Amino acid sequence: MSKIEMKTPLVEMDGDEMTRILWKYIKDELLLPFIDLKTEYYDLGLPHRNETDDKVTFDSAYATQKYGVAVKCATITPNAARVEEYNLKEMWKSPNGTIRAILDGTVFRAPIIVKGIEPCVKNWKQPITIARHAYGDVYKASEMKIPGPGKVELVYTAADGSQESVLVHEFNSAGIVQGMHNLEPSIESFAKSCFNYALDTKQSLWFATKDTISKKYDHTFKDIFQEIYDAEYKEKFEAAGIEYFYTLIDDAVARVMKSKGGFIWACKNYDGDVMSDMLSSAFGSLAMMTSVLVSPSGVYEYEAAHGTVQRHYYKHLAGEETSTNPVATIFAWTGALRKRGELDGTPELMTFADKLEKATIDTIEGGKMTKDLALITELSDVTVLNTEDFIKAIRSTLENM
Ligand code: NAD
Repeated sequence: MSKIEMKTPLVEMDGDEMTRILWKYIKDELLLPFIDLKTEYYDLGLPHRNETDDKVTFDSAYATQKYGVAVKCATITPNAARVEEYNLKEMWKSPNGTIRAILDGTVFRAPIIVKGIEPCVKNWKQPITIARHAYGDVYKASEMKIPGPGKVELVYTAADGSQESVLVHEFNSAGIVQGMHNLEPSIESFAKSCFNYALDTKQSLWFATKDTISKKYDHTFKDIFQEIYDAEYKEKFEAAGIEYFYTLIDDAVARVMKSKGGFIWACKNYDGDVMSDMLSSAFGSLAMMTSVLVSPSGVYEYEAAHGTVQRHYYKHLAGEETSTNPVATIFAWTGALRKRGELDGTPELMTFADKLEKATIDTIEGGKMTKDLALITELSDVTVLNTEDFIKAIRSTLENM
């Protein structure tokens, strides 16, 4: 059997711990036998980030800008314990943060739906994709404890020295205060990433804020989305048969619960933080969530939403059997391969990505799965497989298709 050709390489970002082990199994069993895989390889494993003073992370992001599509393995974000464990020169920053700062994108997270692993919300039949604005608001706020009676004002000093101020509160007791901000260019690129991704995946886009209460702050988000939609996307959305729908955040939450799914929900930073964890838990498992960073210039970086599964890695190192779920990491690869195929005009690559996803889902629906899924499935005839055997089972389904 001849292998599927690739025109342009994918940017491959290897990672850490158990997901690094999965990475190799997936390539060896599910990709290399079928594809003449072309990648430009960057080792983002913590030891190599440390050796290169984290230069490799920056290089991988620049390569992504150049080629347009990357696939990333989960990586350790160092904390004090990791500095000691890996004898690091420095507490290197989160690779995802570095990459996101260079590509300036929005992260879209979507659950992988499998029969037998049903969402807690019965009426959700299709995935709900969350898009979280990843800049500003409460995450970049300045706060103060107010010790007692007094006045708090917001003061803006323009470049020419002129000032404008507004009263926050006249305190007659102790209290607290918070000042937060956002930037129009950041909201604009968030909006564009969302509209582009909606067109790309042919799903309607919902957006919600609390603009009735926050008449300047949240209202600006609403206005920017609407202006960009009317000027640049309305016709394209109509042609694609999808819609842009704005509502209040409380109304959105109520509608999401009653919906069938199958749309993208764009959220402000805090709403996205909270709602994405609610959705991943309600859809079943963190190990079944995919994640893609889409930049406003149309660059894509695919990954699993989960981390490096540290606990399983220590078991693996101790020679014990693990049953780590590779599904989200497989879907990171298929997402990247499909996008590469689409950009390069190589439909065989896109068909292969579809087949590998179907083989993965069929394997689980046929009762073969990892332990995390066996614990939550409603299927009765279940075989729990270890990490490697589950990947081999997917290969066998794929070969029989
Ligand atoms: P984690 O996602 O690795 O694990 C969280 C929990 O979910 C654990 O109980 C784990 O057993 C379970 N789990 C997650 N993925 C699973 C899978 N594929 N199969 C079976 N069970 C799975 O998160 P954590 O433990 O908080 O972090 C571990 C490391 O991962 C940290 O060093 C952190 O910095 C890193 N991390 C990286 C990313 C990323 O690169 N995108 C994201 C989150 C965490």
